[in-house]
Amino acid sequence: MGRFDYLSKTLEQLKRANLFRSLRSIDSTQGCVVRIEGAEKIIFCSNNYLGLANHPKVIQDVIEAGKKYGYGAAASRLISGTMRPHIELEERLANFLNKEAALIFPSGWMANEAVIRTIPQKGDIILLDKADHASIIDAARGSQAEFRTYRRDRPERLEKLLSEEKYKHKFIVTESIFSMYGDAADLKRLVELKNNYGAILILDEAHAFGCLGKNGAGLAEELGLLGQIDIVVATMSKALGAAGGVVAGEQKVIEFLINKARSFIYTTAPSPVNCAAVLAALKIIKGEPERRGRLRENADYLRSRLKRLGLNTGKSRSHIIPVIVGAAEDALRVAEELYKRDFLIVAIRPPTVPAGAARLRISVQSEHSREQMDKLCEAFEELIKQGFLPALSRTK
Ligand code: PLP
Repeated sequence: MGRFDYLSKTLEQLKRANLFRSLRSIDSTQGCVVRIEGAEKIIFCSNNYLGLANHPKVIQDVIEAGKKYGYGAAASRLISGTMRPHIELEERLANFLNKEAALIFPSGWMANEAVIRTIPQKGDIILLDKADHASIIDAARGSQAEFRTYRRDRPERLEKLLSEEKYKHKFIVTESIFSMYGDAADLKRLVELKNNYGAILILDEAHAFGCLGKNGAGLAEELGLLGQIDIVVATMSKALGAAGGVVAGEQKVIEFLINKARSFIYTTAPSPVNCAAVLAALKIIKGEPERRGRLRENADYLRSRLKRLGLNTGKSRSHIIPVIVGAAEDALRVAEELYKRDFLIVAIRPPTVPAGAARLRISVQSEHSREQMDKLCEAFEELIKQGFLPALSRTK
């Protein structure tokens, strides 16, 4: 008997339910085509939405920053880990998000954890969209405040929760573009509600940051609502092609996080080299708005082709296009068949999405070619003909 035999039962259960997860390693940069298990695959599941993870200018600035500052920050931010690139990046991000101040974290997960576990306090209520990311849900669970969830297609419940008078402060926390659905929060309505009920709105722009809005600041900027968002959280790990999270808001909020947020205080500062990568990415995002244009065009093109094939893409309106299959087993089989045809799209299964709603989460990049998208549609067409996509996934 091994010491960890008690874990085997759960692992076996996961395998039987087609919910077991394992790792696959890529042996190239993260482009539209990656090298994996000795073969080239067209990738349609990474978050490198603007092709910046392997952009030559980013790589060049990273090399220069490495020579100047080395790689490691060697201490937490409050000890001796704060270096010039951290400050430069925070100033740049505050400016980009049109807020007084910004604070960076080693990951978007930690940024959500910092805000949601620190700012809402005992006697407060946090209202979460049911589809909010695990980092938001777990942070709310760990907060001293109470929390409830609402469904974005039923805003009446949110309004009812907001109308309860027993709480000191009310917080609404939502993603802007939902990571597994590709639809957008009804920000205009959320802003109206937060104003009517004196609530605070926290917006996680993880999947819109760099991709939407006139300057790439996200959905709130696109809708002209950035000034109405009390706290913006975003990640530099997706469209910006690097790593890390950011919180932007009033100076007071940032000072509070610096003093109280455990995921900021008790961790080593991000590498200065990573800050250089993000600064380079922000320059490209500013200087090449056509990338955002291409991303939108590609997403619209691919979504309409997939819909014409009769596939269920849910309410997607962004570069995240789910093909909802249903059973975990079926989603795994479709992913495997696509892999045999040289596409990498991983099946997303419960608990990441609800039971019975397993899917292929397709994410489009600005750098995908028409040919690559056409090839993917041809592969789906073949799989439909061969009966790999069950009736549930078809809209007609
Ligand atoms: N918020 C959302 C909506 C996400 O999808 C993710 C992604 O993983 C995160 C936060 C966490 O960001 P990071 O990957 O930088 O930790």
